[in-house]
Amino acid sequence: MLTFSELAPITEGVVMQFVQEQTVHHLLTDSRKITQPSGTLFFAIKGAFNDGHDYVSALYARGVRQFVVEREDAIPGVKDEDGLEMSFPEANFLKVENSLDALQQIAQYHREQFFLPVIGITGSNGKTIVKEWLAQLLSPDEKVVKSPRSYNSQIGVPLSVWQIARTHTLGIFEAGISQTGEMEKLQKIIRPTIGIFTNVGPAHDEGFENREQKTAEKLRLFSDADILFYNAEEKTLDKLVKQLKIKTFTWSMQGPADLQILAAIPSGDKTLVSYQFQEEDYRLEIPFTDPASVQNALHCLAVLAWRGLSPEVMQQRFDKLQPVAMRLEMKEAIHNCYLIDDTYNNDLAGLSTALDLLVNQKRHQQKTVILSDLLESGLTEEMLYSEVAAALNNRQVNRLIGIGKVISRNKEKFRAGTEFYETTADFLAHFKADQFHNETILVKGARVFGFEKIVGLFGKKVHGTVLEVNLDALVHNLNFYRAKLQPETRIMVMVKAFAYGSGSYEIANLLQFHRVDYLAVAYADEGVSLRENGISLPIMVMNTAPDNFVQLLRYHLEPEIYSLSQLRSFLEFIQTEKSAQFHIHLKLDTGMHRLGFVEEELATVCDLLKTDERVKIASVFSHLAGADEAIYNDFSQQQIALFRQMALQIETNVGYPVIKHILNSAGIVRFPEHHLDMVRLGIGLYGVEATGTEQSALQTVGTLKTTISQIKEVQKGDTVGYSRKGVAETDLRTATLAIGYADGYDRRFGNGTGEVLIKGQRAPLIGNVCMDMCMVNISGLKDIEEGDEVTVFGPELSITELAKRIGTIPYELLTNVSPRVKRVFYAE
Ligand SMILES: *Cc1c(COP(=O)(O)O)cnc(C)c1O
Repeated sequence: MLTFSELAPITEGVVMQFVQEQTVHHLLTDSRKITQPSGTLFFAIKGAFNDGHDYVSALYARGVRQFVVEREDAIPGVKDEDGLEMSFPEANFLKVENSLDALQQIAQYHREQFFLPVIGITGSNGKTIVKEWLAQLLSPDEKVVKSPRSYNSQIGVPLSVWQIARTHTLGIFEAGISQTGEMEKLQKIIRPTIGIFTNVGPAHDEGFENREQKTAEKLRLFSDADILFYNAEEKTLDKLVKQLKIKTFTWSMQGPADLQILAAIPSGDKTLVSYQFQEEDYRLEIPFTDPASVQNALHCLAVLAWRGLSPEVMQQRFDKLQPVAMRLEMKEAIHNCYLIDDTYNNDLAGLSTALDLLVNQKRHQQKTVILSDLLESGLTEEMLYSEVAAALNNRQVNRLIGIGKVISRNKEKFRAGTEFYETTADFLAHFKADQFHNETILVKGARVFGFEKIVGLFGKKVHGTVLEVNLDALVHNLNFYRAKLQPETRIMVMVKAFAYGSGSYEIANLLQFHRVDYLAVAYADEGVSLRENGISLPIMVMNTAPDNFVQLLRYHLEPEIYSLSQLRSFLEFIQTEKSAQFHIHLKLDTGMHRLGFVEEELATVCDLLKTDERVKIASVFSHLAGADEAIYNDFSQQQIALFRQMALQIETNVGYPVIKHILNSAGIVRFPEHHLDMVRLGIGLYGVEATGTEQSALQTVGTLKTTISQIKEVQKGDTVGYSRKGVAETDLRTATLAIGYADGYDRRFGNGTGEVLIKGQRAPLIGNVCMDMCMVNISGLKDIEEGDEVTVFGPELSITELAKRIGTIPYELLTNVSPRVKRVFYAE
């Protein structure tokens, strides 16, 4: 184990402050993921949107005592010659040129201490699946250490490699890059002895000159490997590999290769593969049929064949191959509980990431974990469950329900108050719903434990229709807008109207985690509900009336003030209040003519504000009437000019600077020179780029799904639905869907105006939309059955297109999705 004083030579850093020797157990790069302060070494990394140096002090308060920093001012006082007290008297500090480099050097040093074989995986798709499957397939023979989830970045790779311990006999790590120069660094950290290049696709093309250059760059991962596995059908790759002096093992369905795939024929839910290896013919059944899974499985087959596993053993192991759930879901559950459903492979690293997520749900104090035996091959049972117990303790999990023989026989390692069951059936038999109230429950089980039954018990009743909210896409969109801002420009996110229909608390919690500066809601009760669910960011409330001033103050909500009468009543209201300060936001009307002060009122506003020094203007803002459309650019510019002038007048008059903001999502894209002190992000976060010019850079956040309740054959001349509007001109097949206008599916979509997507095929509406149902024409569509999933809108059927069809805007479609439609949040 490294000690702090060993770090300086490894990183060429300078020890700025040394208090006492400590060992380094945990590497931390994200202050929010702190679990065990002792033994943690924090790297203050300057990222695109955040600077780790800003969190040194908070981490010190939490007990972290070892830091790697780039800037001396991160530890003010340490250089003080007058003997003043140091700010962080108990901590060791190492100063380096670049903290990320230091992290990588330390991981590289760690890797060099071990001589185990390491499989390195890169490529455009399938890295994570191939990694997880190889771990499953090889775990009977090896003690495997691998990257958690898809930790394959410049930060993820060092953290993955840091896990290698003496007990491991094989490492499997993935590497992903987005630009030139990155792979060389990852190669030094992973140092793969065995390489797998999955495939060459379009992902991250933008970071490279062309596909060939990208491929060549990725191949650097294998510069020191003993052997490289790849699919010889990848022509660019094949050509480049042949120029390298590296031993290869190829597979191909088309031509000669070390492993020649003679046939891969789907049969039921399996694929029958026949292949030739070392001049012998063999067969293997793969328990998947989709092309991507088959390709991933063939990479694994190649490695297993090369290792000399017998065909019988291979078949046994392939039979047990489990799909890798890349997705973790969050949803409302019974008795005001909140459920995190994570059936991702249940190993220690996966448990840690799930626990981090649990900790970051601020909604309930009470946190429960339902956990199965862990499938971890690298540690002894003793060590494994001690670590599990520590991981739960560190995150202050209140209650553990352990399910499985192994976790049960290790029960004394856990705190009192836990429950254990040998099987899932045992737990289900004893389950009492009333033992779960107002808590967040993480359900994490290896697939063999069948925890979906447990999830089913907690789930609220679902009626076929759900709005799935992709949290990764939301973060992607947030970062798209952030990247456009100057570092000092703040970001306020509009989470009004149930976060544009997506679910206010979950979105707000994620935004809080990603450190936006402000939230805004339309009404006080929306703000109250966010506060009651643990949201502590500043919140602006746009519509307030004297009768909810009380609520505002109690919940630390900041009102938008837009009229003199409103300002007067607020000032009057606070006369009897004791707070030292009240934050308000002044709305100016610069041409929208909705709410806001006009120029002539400003003098009075400022005079009034001076009557109570406790009122502080947190910000001054206005709203553009036509930011979406280029034809209104001139008008927008006039509004901006007027706003700047009015804001200046206020600042001069009150004598202190205020935050100024005028741009919404479209404005951020259209007027980069007017971002001012803050911007207000709305629809863009949810995946709609309102100017239409950069739509392809955003990802769709919401997918509205329903199911087919019944399929009907309708005779020519008959009609479908109310008022006999859907007339069958010929014999038809129709599907009745479990969604109607009460779910927010607009009646205007009826009679052919709208379309839905079933198994990738479009089906037009037939007849009127009913309250809870509607019908679509599926004549001529293939493979459609009752119970099939139907996409109402989503990545392949955009709300922008649908909105146009009924003459409205995407905003309306999003916010119309009714509260009775269950929201399910998911992330990778
Ligand atoms: C809703 C709203 C926004 C966000 O607008 P988008 O077009 O969704 O980005 C910004 N400012 C105000 C005042 C709003 O009401």
